[in-house]
Amino acid sequence: MSGLDDGVEDKVEGGGLDLNGRWPTGMIDMHAHCFPRISRAEARAVDAERAPWLEVAADGESGHIMLGDERFRPVQAQLWDPGRRVERLDSQGVALQVVCATPVMFGYGWPGARAAEWARRMNEHVLAYCAFAPRRLKALAQVPLQSLELACAEAGHAMAAGCIGVQIGNHVGDRDLDDEALVQFLVHCARERIPVLVHPWDMMGGARMKKWMLPWLVAMPAETQLGMVSLILSGALERIPDSLRICFAHGGGSFAWLLGRVDNAWRQRDIVREDCPQLPSSYARRFHVDSAVFDPGALRLLVEVMGADRVMLGSDTPFPLGEPQIGSLVHGFPGLTPEEKAKIMHNNAASFFDLAVPTGRG
Ligand SMILES: [Zn+2]
Repeated sequence: MSGLDDGVEDKVEGGGLDLNGRWPTGMIDMHAHCFPRISRAEARAVDAERAPWLEVAADGESGHIMLGDERFRPVQAQLWDPGRRVERLDSQGVALQVVCATPVMFGYGWPGARAAEWARRMNEHVLAYCAFAPRRLKALAQVPLQSLELACAEAGHAMAAGCIGVQIGNHVGDRDLDDEALVQFLVHCARERIPVLVHPWDMMGGARMKKWMLPWLVAMPAETQLGMVSLILSGALERIPDSLRICFAHGGGSFAWLLGRVDNAWRQRDIVREDCPQLPSSYARRFHVDSAVFDPGALRLLVEVMGADRVMLGSDTPFPLGEPQIGSLVHGFPGLTPEEKAKIMHNNAASFFDLAVPTGRG
């Protein structure tokens, strides 16, 4: 490889390593979180017990997401400090990162008007975070998904204010993505050309998943699969325009692995077919997924099931369950061609979000 011989970085599109063994140009990481400096007073004004806020330690390097007086999760400065974030992106060769709310910020349990006001404020926080480095950081909006009207209004407002898409949870209470109001929100996003990232949250299983991060390890992938299968088997995708750009986090959870099981059930049982006219796997082309699966074999399956045009680099950083060296799984996997890697590393996300492919690391 010429870059290793002459000391010049190899800039071949979709090609080889740079001197540090990293992807040479323009990674777009489309799944990452932030949590702004929400004050305790700001949270208390909305919901003293359930609105999240940020407690920062005296050293400024670490802190906790708080719910009322309870510590919800330990966190690090990248989450609220965009300068620290960009340093990290520089060190990892990431040109552009798409950041979105930490799901505990969604506020879907509140009355719609209160959640709408909160979503507006959170979107302003996230846009301010990204304004630190507008070419490096782009924001997804949150919306008050419990109200179709207010969710559509906030999505439009946030896009006009500079967001490049929306992030939604995979359900609102007992309402899954096949709920008519949620389907209509997706129809709205298709018509308005608003890209959607669906993130699992508020995980199923309750007390049976209280230890060892089981809600994240077992329930989250099932939540994501439930969202995708609900859209397929309900027939909702027959009514949602083909133009909808919708991506599911964590490689779509259990979806790709178990799609054959759904197809078999559709063939065998009329109750599975009754609302879904086509073979379930034929709808997989309607979805994008991120690459956060942490295993080469899983990545291979994901690309085979979804197609190399439908997988996008997503790190889920800076949380501990994210990919520590962003892009390393895709970059290091020998089972993908350079062209497939280029699609996953940046081209697919550029097209999904109507962005230019970055020409350098930023
Ligand atoms: Zn995430």
